[in-house]
Amino acid sequence: MLCPNCQKEIVDGSNFCYNCGAKLNAGAPAPAYAIPAPPKRLMRSSRDKKIGGVCAGLAAYFDLDPTIVRIVWLLAIFFAGTGLLVYVVLWIALPLAPIDAPMSVQTTAARV
Ligand SMILES: [Zn+2]
Repeated sequence: MLCPNCQKEIVDGSNFCYNCGAKLNAGAPAPAYAIPAPPKRLMRSSRDKKIGGVCAGLAAYFDLDPTIVRIVWLLAIFFAGTGLLVYVVLWIALPLAPIDAPMSVQTTAARV
């Protein structure tokens, strides 16, 4: 048989071309591990919440650590005074995530 890569004659049934090293008998195509993730929705977290789940929901949406979001939010409340109003608005506006909805890959893995 001919190597499709270098067009040199090689032994039938070879797995690799010994002229150029090209893989020949690829066999079954690689399984599709890349399952497309469901579209993210900005929701309040129902699992990882301290007050209303807003910080955890935002953290899951933006792939951040919920603790970091809480710290930044508390700083915004204490120093700017606007964080509390935004929190209440989001608390009311954001839908609560279903308890078994994967908020992020991290929280999904942590549950297993
Ligand atoms: Zn070859």
